[in-house]
Amino acid sequence: MKNSTSKPTLIPRMYCNLFGHDYQVTKKVTYHVKEYTCRHCKKELTTNSNGKLIELTPKFREINSILERIYHSRTERLKNKSLVSSIY
Ligand SMILES: [Zn+2]
Repeated sequence: MKNSTSKPTLIPRMYCNLFGHDYQVTKKVTYHVKEYTCRHCKKELTTNSNGKLIELTPKFREINSILERIYHSRTERLKNKSLVSSIY
């Protein structure tokens, strides 16, 4: 709740309504799942398990952080392919 100075203003929102959001990848969670933030209105999206873009809710942020941990520990041990996550 601190540092809330980057509050979205009306003009970027209007820009997005006119031209659409301008999403940039802010985080690579796994090879397939990424997090995006709109440069103008700071709206956040993520990729869900179907590969579709959805709003990044606190729940998905949590799922992503778990996925990220699994993904990174798995890529560190590339040879070990027997572990298939059921979270996907
Ligand atoms: Zn936007």
